[in-house]
Amino acid sequence: MLTVRCARCKRKLFRYEKVGEGRLLRCHKARITRVFEGQFLDTGLSCPCGARIGSDEGNWIGMIPGRVVTTGTRSS
Ligand SMILES: [Zn+2]
Repeated sequence: MLTVRCARCKRKLFRYEKVGEGRLLRCHKARITRVFEGQFLDTGLSCPCGARIGSDEGNWIGMIPGRVVTTGTRSS
């Protein structure tokens, strides 16, 4: 599981089941296992600090590069 945090304010946004290697470019909504402070809106994902994190693409969130930091392990 990865804990996804805002790169600006370090708030925890959500927890995510990441499969495979590589950067977090898309977050599939079905793999978001827990929401902390991430604000999921019709237009996308934002942080309470005002940072825009990603855009809503239907089944996934299109992550804006550089807006989050992740901690934790990913399943392979
Ligand atoms: Zn933030």
